[in-house]
Amino acid sequence: MDNYFTSLISFYGNTSPRELIKKYGSPLYVYNESILRQRCREMVSLVSYPRFSVNYSCKANTNLELLRIIRQEGIHADAISPGEVHILLEAGYKPEEIFYISNNISKEEMRTIIDKGILISIDSLSQLEQYGEMNPGGSVSIRLNPGLGVGHHKKVITAGDDTKFGIDLELIPRVKEIARKYELKIVGINHHLGSLFMEGDVFIEGAKLLLSVAKEFSDLDFIDIGGGFGIPYRKQENEPRLDLRNFGKKLSPILENWAKEYGKQVEFIVEPGRYIVAESGVVLGKVHTIKENHSTSYIGTDIGFNVLARPMLYDAHHDIEVYKINENCLEKNYNKVTIVGNICESGDIIARDRLLPEIAEGDIIGIVDAGAYGYCMSSNYNSRLRPAEVLITAEGKDVLIRRRDTLDDLMRGFLP
Ligand SMILES: *Cc1c(COP(=O)(O)O)cnc(C)c1O
Repeated sequence: MDNYFTSLISFYGNTSPRELIKKYGSPLYVYNESILRQRCREMVSLVSYPRFSVNYSCKANTNLELLRIIRQEGIHADAISPGEVHILLEAGYKPEEIFYISNNISKEEMRTIIDKGILISIDSLSQLEQYGEMNPGGSVSIRLNPGLGVGHHKKVITAGDDTKFGIDLELIPRVKEIARKYELKIVGINHHLGSLFMEGDVFIEGAKLLLSVAKEFSDLDFIDIGGGFGIPYRKQENEPRLDLRNFGKKLSPILENWAKEYGKQVEFIVEPGRYIVAESGVVLGKVHTIKENHSTSYIGTDIGFNVLARPMLYDAHHDIEVYKINENCLEKNYNKVTIVGNICESGDIIARDRLLPEIAEGDIIGIVDAGAYGYCMSSNYNSRLRPAEVLITAEGKDVLIRRRDTLDDLMRGFLP
């Protein structure tokens, strides 16, 4: 069970957790290029339908170097803020490779995105009206909410009857009315059910719902059936992977048949975020203290929720690996421990009641599957420095791809 994941795939290339921390400090985000590329390729080859594209939902991880690799793999991007657009352009993405999924944006923001020549997905009647006034004759995509949502946590369900996202299907006549008024061309429709499904059937059910209403639009060039592809966060319990092959096999004929009936080979798009990057990233940290408190064994580390927020934010599970500082020391005693960070809040817990090989002060722990919604959600809370990020290249070399914050970074924005 211990370190099964990273050792199986020689995650750290020619180096080791200990050497990496010695060289770059702790805590540290480490990414593996080969895994990242592999996940990209799995998505790109998901279906046999010929006009199929993948848009990486870059909110999951916006490291410039990772974005470049993802683009090299033939993947385009979804952006949801001007900041993301800025980073994507810096990483080499062309405006036509970016799809802007807007939600409650200001007119200035809408203007900025239109001026850059980036296609926008519109999320409400009122914003469609604003778009029409601003860019009559323009092309847009409409984000629909076909009434079905999924997710690993209430906070990440983005369709269905209890979410701020998407336009209710009943409002489609109004959408068309506004489009006519401003001579807008509805070139695409999109939806996103939510995050982290492990069975393809619910996604397919959602896609079918979207396709059944798509026929009401006569000018479509693409249909974006969303993201949310899950990864197994409980590998140590042998959680199975999402069966992409089987999933693709089921999805392909649905897309093909729809296009045939529509009479046009529209482009079909998926927009995975997590699936692309999650498994390529690990957070390494150091054990500073071991302490018993009212019958709980606490392992005190430098990985607070300022470094990795998912456990605190979504009660998310991440598998933990232990790297003994004395590598010859083969501990086979397992203890039930709770792993915590160094932030001044009781909720600063990474992993509760885990059975792990005996841990000593000075050991290194790895929090695996942390490549998505990891660094991008990290913060300077408690005025702690955000970690550095390192890439293990396909050749096994370690390369710094973002430096650690400095104390000066904490002073950014203050007037002299
Ligand atoms: C976040 C998001 C995604 C990606 O979700 P994942 O669960 O990371 O795949 C896709 N589309 C939209 C609109 C999103 O907001």
